[in-house]
Amino acid sequence: MIGAGVAGLAAARHLRHRGIHVIVLESGSGVGGRVRTLVEQGCQIELGAEFLASFYTRTLALIDELGIQPDLCRIPSSSATLRDGRFHSLWPNARVAFTQLVGSHHKLALSYLLASLLRHRPLLDLTAFQKAFPIDDVSVSDYARAHLSEDLLEYVLQPPLAGIFYWTPERTSRALLMLVLRAGLSHPAGLKLFTMRQGLGHLPHAMAAGQDVRLGTRVCAVDRLPAGGYAVRITGSEQPLVADRVICATTASAVPHLMPWLGTERLSLFQAVRYSATALLATGTRDRLPHDFYGLLFPRRETAFLASATIQSVKSASAVPRGCDTLTLHMAGPAMDALHQYDDPSLTRIMLTELRRLAPRYDPMPQAIFQRFFRCPEALPEFDVGHFRRLQGFAASDMEPPGMAFAGDYLGGPFVEGAILSGEAAAERVMR
Ligand SMILES: Cc1cc2nc3c(=O)[nH]c(=O)nc-3n(C[C@H](O)[C@H](O)[C@H](O)COP(=O)(O)OP(=O)(O)OC[C@H]3O[C@@H](n4cnc5c(N)ncnc54)[C@H](O)[C@@H]3O)c2cc1C
Repeated sequence: MIGAGVAGLAAARHLRHRGIHVIVLESGSGVGGRVRTLVEQGCQIELGAEFLASFYTRTLALIDELGIQPDLCRIPSSSATLRDGRFHSLWPNARVAFTQLVGSHHKLALSYLLASLLRHRPLLDLTAFQKAFPIDDVSVSDYARAHLSEDLLEYVLQPPLAGIFYWTPERTSRALLMLVLRAGLSHPAGLKLFTMRQGLGHLPHAMAAGQDVRLGTRVCAVDRLPAGGYAVRITGSEQPLVADRVICATTASAVPHLMPWLGTERLSLFQAVRYSATALLATGTRDRLPHDFYGLLFPRRETAFLASATIQSVKSASAVPRGCDTLTLHMAGPAMDALHQYDDPSLTRIMLTELRRLAPRYDPMPQAIFQRFFRCPEALPEFDVGHFRRLQGFAASDMEPPGMAFAGDYLGGPFVEGAILSGEAAAERVMR
């Protein structure tokens, strides 16, 4: 197994339960990949995934199987979107009817979206994203401009795409929008969010328990052996590991470097996957921040680079020491590329100045006890127009060489649930 993210760990666990010996090779110093919790002065900082959603059926079942269900807790509050200096909540779903985020005629246009959702329901399967390929025909922005309204695009659709996935509507397929809406609307009370009291990093740790995980082990190449099986070469080691079967559970971008012999057609799938980027600023405070919302979403009409903010004490009381708090800011958006040339202290200043302009009540600085800044150049795989067709091609044709399977959120869906499902599916395929 290459990679101890949740996809790799789910695959390894699945195989181990079938009595197969699995070695998990992980280049990083810990397990979890993009699910990692750091603790700074008693405050949890989520470096990757922040929450699980009620439609993560497999992840929630796995949490049960692992016996860590008592650590799971519901995030009690909602998110809100900024418009003209005020935050508006669309949560739970019924609030859409009363919100002042967009005017009534824009709300009426939402009925088109709902009708379309009902029409395409059979294609919207969260366990098999490729089924949605017939509606992978237009970007969210083109779709919204043609059938909804500019206001709905900029204030209802764009903020969560940027705040949760760090994507733009221009580079997101409407198939992905339909899938996420179907998942979010499937419960009458609306989407519920969960976290873990010890931070989401608890999940990969529990998944790794009892497994043969070798940390700090970077795979630099995987070669096919003439007699069958694979030689897995590791940076800094003369002796390759020989394996009957290999699951590659890295990001898509790593695959062409590890296996250039896969050939143009197979490699084109991995090379076509683009990742969004974000930067994260966590500020610990010795006071509680306002408690009205868990997440704040900043539309690109209001700011060129701030995407979202989360308040840790609202998420879970155990995420911070009593009386303290942590505000986490994420960047995304059109100015992101240009901002990469700035160093960390400059970006920290820029983000906080922008927060003060947009939402001064949430300024953490007067009471700050620490600041941590992280860059995430490969945050989430974009499910842009064409990606569902690529997934359909992957599922339909012989993309994987004998004895090898691929796993990761770019195949299963851009969240923890998708990564776990893809890992378990890869384990099934490699056994076949
Ligand atoms: C900032 C951010 C916020 C997010 N928020 C959420 C959220 O709230 N909810 C949610 O459900 N999802 C969220 N996600 C998405 C979620 O974290 C990912 O979809 C999921 O964790 C991907 O898991 P994975 O196993 O596919 O990939 P990864 O976690 O990337 O795992 C791949 C692993 O492979 C290792 N690796 C790579 N190359 C090699 C090599 N050559 N040799 C050995 N090891 C290698 C890497 O070190 C890594 O550990 C977020 C992601 C980010 C970045």
